[in-house]
Amino acid sequence: MREKKQLYEEVERLYTQVLIAKSRSILEEAIKDVLTIHKPIDAAMYGPRNIHKVQVCTGCGQDDGNWNKWPCPTIRAIQEALT
Ligand SMILES: [Zn+2]
Repeated sequence: MREKKQLYEEVERLYTQVLIAKSRSILEEAIKDVLTIHKPIDAAMYGPRNIHKVQVCTGCGQDDGNWNKWPCPTIRAIQEALT
């Protein structure tokens, strides 16, 4: 009886390890996909007296049609979750 319980616990422990590894793999792939979309790119900003360069995100913008400055809210959310 005791052997059966130990075997059951070992199977459960291994199953949990597989689930954790699978979840980690899925999350890593999801983050890679997000990072291929949200990348910094240089953009020229036209002010009243000069033009200056800023980095914006290639993957998202604002409702008014403007780019999001880099790092965009998506990247900041990922960075905050991972720190
Ligand atoms: Zn973005």
